[in-house]
Amino acid sequence: MSVRTRFAPSPTGYLHIGGVRTALFNWLFARHHGGQFLLRIDDTDADRNVAEALQPILDGFRWLGLEWDEGPEVDGPHAPYYQSRRGERYRDAVGRLLESGAAYRDYATSEEVEAEREEAQQAKRRFIYSRRFMAETDAQAAAFEAEGRRAVVRLRMPREGVCQFEDLVRGPVEFEWALEQDHVIQRVDGSPLYHLASSVDDHDFEITHVIRAVEHLSNTPRQMFITEALGYTPPRFAHLPYVAAPGSKEKLSKRKLDKYLQHHEFKRLHEQGAGIATALGVDVRPETFSPVVVDFYRQVGYDPEALVNYLLLLGWSLDDHTETFTRDEMVRSFSLERVNRAEASFDPQKLLAFQERRMQALAVDERVHKVLPFLEQTGLVATPVDEVKRARTRSVVEAAGDRIKVAGDILEYPEFFLDDDAFEYDAKAFAKRVAKEGAAPLLQQFRNRLRDLPEFGAAELEQALHAFVEAEGIKIGQIIHAVRVAVTGKGVGFGLFEGLAILGQGACLRRIDRALAQVSATES
Ligand code: GLU
Repeated sequence: MSVRTRFAPSPTGYLHIGGVRTALFNWLFARHHGGQFLLRIDDTDADRNVAEALQPILDGFRWLGLEWDEGPEVDGPHAPYYQSRRGERYRDAVGRLLESGAAYRDYATSEEVEAEREEAQQAKRRFIYSRRFMAETDAQAAAFEAEGRRAVVRLRMPREGVCQFEDLVRGPVEFEWALEQDHVIQRVDGSPLYHLASSVDDHDFEITHVIRAVEHLSNTPRQMFITEALGYTPPRFAHLPYVAAPGSKEKLSKRKLDKYLQHHEFKRLHEQGAGIATALGVDVRPETFSPVVVDFYRQVGYDPEALVNYLLLLGWSLDDHTETFTRDEMVRSFSLERVNRAEASFDPQKLLAFQERRMQALAVDERVHKVLPFLEQTGLVATPVDEVKRARTRSVVEAAGDRIKVAGDILEYPEFFLDDDAFEYDAKAFAKRVAKEGAAPLLQQFRNRLRDLPEFGAAELEQALHAFVEAEGIKIGQIIHAVRVAVTGKGVGFGLFEGLAILGQGACLRRIDRALAQVSATES
C-alpha cells in the first residue's frame, strides 16, 4: 500500500513555525516512500471566511515548495478535503457508533456535568462522568426531550484495560482506558467535533501514517477507539517533539512575541525583518508579522531552502554533524527513526546562519533575481526591469556582498537607485562629517579632483583619494567619511570606492554639490 500522509491545518490565516515543521516531516516521509502528501482543512469551527484565512497557508506551502498531491485547489479522488463539507460522512459515522453502543446520546446540561466535576474535585476524586443522563433507548431519549433537554453524543469509553500502540517515534505507548473521559463527538446542534471528524477523514482519505506534534499523543487512544468501533484499521502514528521557544523548554507560541523579544537573538531576527517590512509598507502588527509565523520569512526575503533546511533539524538529525541538505538529500535521508523525542529548541541565531550561508552560496545573478522584486515593490526600480537597472542592481549586490543576508536587505541601499538623488541625509552623520568645521572646503577640493578624473573606476578613485590625502597632508578620515555621507546620505555602507564607481561621475559631483549647498545654506 502506498504511503499517504496528511497535514490538517485549521484556517487561521497564518502558518506557524511549529506547524510547518510538522507539515515538512509529513511531506518528506511521503516523498521518501514515493507516496502522497495531502492537505485537509479542519474548518468545523470556522466562523470566518475560510477561503481568506486559508490563502496565506496555501501560499506559505507553495513558497516553501511543499506541494500537496490532494487537497484544496488541487482536489483529488476524495474531494472535498474540507471538513465543513463532509457533514454527512460524520453524521453517518455517529449513527453507526450509536447503533453499536460505542457512543451514546447524553442529555446532561453542561451545568450538570460541571457540578459533577466540582463534586469530584472537592472529594479529591478523579472526575469521570456518571452517565446519569445517558439515553440508551428511544423511550429514555423521548423522556429527556420532554423535559426540554437536548442531546450531545459522547463516546462510551471502556472503563478498564489499556490502549496500546507502537508510536513510530516514541516506541510502545500505553494509556489506561479508565482515565479517558467520555468525549463529546457531536454537539447539540449536530455538528461534529475534532476526534470524530479526524478519525473518519483519516480512514476515508486512506491515510497510512498520522505524523503530528506530541500535543496530540493523548488524543490517539480516543481516535483509535473511534476508528476501531467503526470497523476501520487505524493508521500508524508518529508523534513529533514540540518546538520550544528560544532558550526555553516552553512550547513556541504565537502569542508570546513580547516575551521572545527579550531574547537577544530573537530580537535581532525580528528587528532585521521589521526594518525591511517598514520600507515595504507591510503591516507589522505582531499577529501577522512575527518570526513565529512563516510569512515573516517570505516577506523579508529569506530563501525558502534555508528555512526548510533549518526546519528539518527541528527534531530530526541524520548524524551528529551533517547540517546542510539539498531538497533531494532531505527526501533521500529522511526517516522517522531519526526523529528525536526531546523538544526541539527554535534557535534564531542558527536560522540566520543557515540563511547567510545559503545567500553566500548563490551566484550573483541568482541573488539579483531575489532582490529585484523588493526594488520593484518599493518603486526603486520600475517594472519591467530594464537592462540599465538590472546592471545597477548587479553592481550593488556584488559590492554589498555578505551584507545582503536576506533579499530585503537590498533596501538598505536605496540611494543607489534614486535617479533624482532625493535621499535624506542621516542628520547625525551629516553634522559630524560634512557640516563640521573645515570639512566643506576639503570636500570642495576633492570634488574638483573627481571632476578631472579621466577614469571613474574603484581603483582610480582609491588612488585619487590617497593622492589627495598626501598632497593636503590630512588624515584619510578627514575626507573619506565626508564623501560617503555627501554621496550616500549615510555614515556606513559597503566599500566607498565601489559605491562611487557604481554611481558614476555625474551623480557623485551632483551629490557633493548638493551637500555643499546644504552646508552653506545652514551657515548663512
Ligand atoms: N487540525 C488539527 C490541529 O491542527 C489536526 C491535528 C491532527 O493532526 O490530528 O491541531
